[in-house]
Amino acid sequence: MANDKFTAIVVGAGPAGSTAALVLARAGHEVLLIEKGAVPGAKNMFGGRLYSHALNRIIPEFWERAPVERPVVRETLTLLHDGRSVSLNVRNLDWVSPPHHSFTLHRAEFDAWLASEAEEAGAMLACSIRVDDLLMENGRVIGIRAGEDEMFADVVIAADGVNSLLAQRAGLAGMASPRQVATGVKQIIELPSDVIRRRFQLEGNNGAAQLFVGDCTGGMQGGGFVYTNRESVSLGLVINANELRKTQRSLFELIEDFKMNPHIAPLLEGGDVGEYSAHLIPEAGLAMMPRVFGQGILVAGDAAGFALNLGYVVRGMDFAIASGEAAAKTVIQAKKHNDFSRRGLSFYQKYLRENFVLRDLAAYRRAPEFMENCRLFETYPDLITSLMAEVFTVSGSQPVHLFTKILSRVRQSRVSLAKLFIDGWRGATWL
Ligand SMILES: Cc1cc2nc3c(=O)[nH]c(=O)nc-3n(C[C@H](O)[C@H](O)[C@H](O)COP(=O)(O)OP(=O)(O)OC[C@H]3O[C@@H](n4cnc5c(N)ncnc54)[C@H](O)[C@@H]3O)c2cc1C
Repeated sequence: MANDKFTAIVVGAGPAGSTAALVLARAGHEVLLIEKGAVPGAKNMFGGRLYSHALNRIIPEFWERAPVERPVVRETLTLLHDGRSVSLNVRNLDWVSPPHHSFTLHRAEFDAWLASEAEEAGAMLACSIRVDDLLMENGRVIGIRAGEDEMFADVVIAADGVNSLLAQRAGLAGMASPRQVATGVKQIIELPSDVIRRRFQLEGNNGAAQLFVGDCTGGMQGGGFVYTNRESVSLGLVINANELRKTQRSLFELIEDFKMNPHIAPLLEGGDVGEYSAHLIPEAGLAMMPRVFGQGILVAGDAAGFALNLGYVVRGMDFAIASGEAAAKTVIQAKKHNDFSRRGLSFYQKYLRENFVLRDLAAYRRAPEFMENCRLFETYPDLITSLMAEVFTVSGSQPVHLFTKILSRVRQSRVSLAKLFIDGWRGATWL
């Protein structure tokens, strides 16, 4: 390494940072991966499922080596309201065999493994170091400062997660507003694997993912989740931070209520809480994306706001991995021309477009606006669960045809047909 200067310093050994370090190290570059935790993943959390496609491109058949828990073969979306629930179940046995669609996993194990892949490829990993600031020269980032230490690089990759300190220090981003982020809270509930199999009706090591909308958030914008691991289930809530601010209720109370909901409690009965964690998740998509490259700096993963919540699909890990790869490819390209200026790093946008990150965020750019519609979290769960309860009730009273039942329930819900149509249209075309 010439003059103790790295080609890249990557800050944050989450999926974005470790992937960037891995791809750079494989290409033979000197890369330093810095993580503030004692080990990668020590404090990282997420709901529970990695969509495989992005990592499979970088580490083919990664599931053979990676610490994954279960391939997800069943997706369930459940509306909850006032003691009633309606579920949509999707089972696809194609997801059992390679190439698997998605896996549940634990971040502590997975992040440590991915960082070790980067190390094996030649990256230098330094843990228990919190980066405090960027080093600047003539308006260009030339390295980082951590306590008394200064380290230099051609380029710094900020993969330090949501509300990135480094993107803010570089003048590329501001603090996210409460409307743009959600607070996630999660418990890991330990249960024997045969109990999980029975309760979730799974065969072998297959897994299930279940998302909930309605009572679990007390009608606030957000939802609940349950993912099956080998010997535990991950259960939690994600609630828009702005909504949470307005309520008197704590996240702790909300998650305890969720666990006691009669539709959830039987799934957890006898389980012990093994872990409790909370974290922010970017929710505003393209609207909160900072400038993702500057003089000598690239921003990847949650630090760049690359995450998507469609209600039925929550993605962040695959965006983090793909943007880490795109950042690494950009550095490799810039090194060839020895140009780490804004212009030299502008390839980043091209790679982000080619590999789906910007394409998908653009395709779903109106999803965050759709999710702000409060009817989704109270009125519609009420309408649909009460209608379905009525449809399946036989009471000996005067028969009413389905169409009349629907109209009467819609009237009771006080949603005009026009609003219903507009919401339906937006849901179908924006999500
Ligand atoms: C409740 C919840 C549920 C979610 N569910 C899912 C899901 O099921 N599927 C999915 O795909 N996504 C999910 N996500 C989103 C996903 O977790 C993120 O998109 C993903 O973790 C982003 O990865 P990252 O590498 O960009 O950032 P992070 O995973 O946040 O990693 C950032 C790393 O940087 C380190 N760091 C931060 N600051 C510094 C510093 N100054 N110096 C050194 N190191 C630093 C941190 O310790 C951390 O290791 C969920 C998120 C939450 C909160």
